[in-house]
Amino acid sequence: MTTNLNDNTPSSSNFIRTIVEKNIEQKLYKNKKWIGSPGNAEHQKNGSQDPATIRTRFPPEPNGYLHIGHAKSIYLNFGLAHDYQGACHLRFDDTNPEKEKKEFATSIINNVKWLGFDWKFKNETNLYYASNYFELMYQAAISLIQSGHAYVDQQTAEEIRENRGTLTSPGKNSPWRDHTVDEHLKLFKEMRDGKHANGLMVLRAKINMASPNINLRDPAIYRIKKATHHRTRDNWCIYPMYTFAHPIEDALEGITHSICTLEFEDQRPFYDWLLKQLKNNGLLNDPLPKQYEFARLNLTYVVLSKRRLIELVENNHVLGWDDPRMPTLAGARRRGYTPAGFKLFTDRIGVSKSDSWIDYSTLEDCMRETLNNSVHRRIAVLDPIKLIINNYPDNQEENCYAPNHPQQPELGKRIVKLTKELWIERGDFMEVPSKKYFRLFPGNQVRLRYGYIITCTDFKKDEQGNITTIFCDYLPNTKSGTAGANSIKVKGNIHWLSEKYAVNATINLYDRLFKTEQPGLSSDNYLDDLNENSAAQINVKLEENCKTIQPGDQYQFERHGYFIADIESKAHDIKINRTVTLRNQWK
Ligand code: ATP
Ligand code: MG
Repeated sequence: MTTNLNDNTPSSSNFIRTIVEKNIEQKLYKNKKWIGSPGNAEHQKNGSQDPATIRTRFPPEPNGYLHIGHAKSIYLNFGLAHDYQGACHLRFDDTNPEKEKKEFATSIINNVKWLGFDWKFKNETNLYYASNYFELMYQAAISLIQSGHAYVDQQTAEEIRENRGTLTSPGKNSPWRDHTVDEHLKLFKEMRDGKHANGLMVLRAKINMASPNINLRDPAIYRIKKATHHRTRDNWCIYPMYTFAHPIEDALEGITHSICTLEFEDQRPFYDWLLKQLKNNGLLNDPLPKQYEFARLNLTYVVLSKRRLIELVENNHVLGWDDPRMPTLAGARRRGYTPAGFKLFTDRIGVSKSDSWIDYSTLEDCMRETLNNSVHRRIAVLDPIKLIINNYPDNQEENCYAPNHPQQPELGKRIVKLTKELWIERGDFMEVPSKKYFRLFPGNQVRLRYGYIITCTDFKKDEQGNITTIFCDYLPNTKSGTAGANSIKVKGNIHWLSEKYAVNATINLYDRLFKTEQPGLSSDNYLDDLNENSAAQINVKLEENCKTIQPGDQYQFERHGYFIADIESKAHDIKINRTVTLRNQWK
């Protein structure tokens, strides 16, 4: 039985776990050398048996903020390492200079930590940057040229495209393909030295232009790109292609299971081809990493693609990367979603090999379930209307006792003050009750939660006909928690706040960011599917105990849902975000 991080619930099994267990049983990594840091065969030569049973990695490109899809990959990779006494590396796949920034790398580190993970293993730190391997990648490219497995192609991009062939017809060999090794070596060095312009030539692997797998038709592995990199600055003007860099990064780090999403399945033959050539050339040793693919998370009513998230931010459709409506981890955190909720979610959706869509409400359910157990209750009146108790003495006030958590009495009770003038929800009164309406209407009785039973006697309207005040009498013997509490049975039970003690606050009521399940599916542009009503702000009343609420504090506001104090909330300007309603109200 395996256990997961932070609690003892067993992780559900999945096909990747089955593979890992089998590989461990087969003792595949028995002779795996590891000197304690990444490097090629020469570097690892004097290493000893790797203390990590397996090695996985989470390899984000620092070109944006992490989103909910990444959480699935994080739980999978870090979870496996944790459960099988292995190591999981956090690796920045920063081989694309133009779009990467330190700001993104910092936010990624924070997000992964927030989810509860850590890349340390024994005395290793295991936080890596692909850009640290540029020299080794360059050496790998040279070795491929030398062994006749790579060449500099001077065809134009268009010619390369034309000569690639199609799914049904083979490609054509480049006229440069069979030039001598020395010529290719010389040109590649010139590329590196900045002697040629962007796009003038590329280094390609020499495999087979007639391969049925188009990815094996001499894929490009290095290109000229005169761009400043956020870490290596102007040291390089050639950069490796992702498909070349990634397997090498995995191999240098001694990764055993390189887990990626299904769209890379067709790249696996190249992954294996490349590492085998580099092993034959003496740069790498067995056991080589193996790639495994799983279905990416698709979630309804949001978009989970960094490119689109960047667009939402840059074109001001949202207020920023951590806008609480954003499906980024930063947004989710600000919205009040929790690591425990994400863990439950990833366990619940599982890991499979076929793409599917997960309904957004599944994620919300997981947040509700975990928040229900973990947060205290408070009272908020979201749409306040005045209620006056006719027969309650003017200046009298008394304590009512409300449990902090109805299912966890050990969490104690708090005091809520009752006075003559109260706030109740506008929706808890009807002038003319509809069928099955059990709350306040003239002549009807309800319980003021934690307080007394009241009878509605009257109400007042303004000139426009809006109800402004409701009047009632209370029954003094019926206070909750006293002997007389059950003397009268009522069907309605409403929450309230003392007008004198209630605290003002604003609440952001968030709704789904998109109004269609699969944004962009039936419209041409996913932006057309944005929900214009995804954020509303209301002025509300909170119980006095919320006066000291701090950014990040989370509560259930009874009968309303789960809420969190926003990071910008201040003592006299309380700002609250609604995390999720108590029940699914979308349908
Ligand atoms: P995007 O398509 O949003 O740009 P990406 O794959 O390009 O995502 P990376 O930063 O390269 O972003 O991803 C880091 C890791 O997270 C990769 O291993 C990738 O497979 C995984 N990942 C990305 N999106 C998802 C998703 N929706 N579900 C599961 N895993 C994902
Ligand atoms: Mg990517």
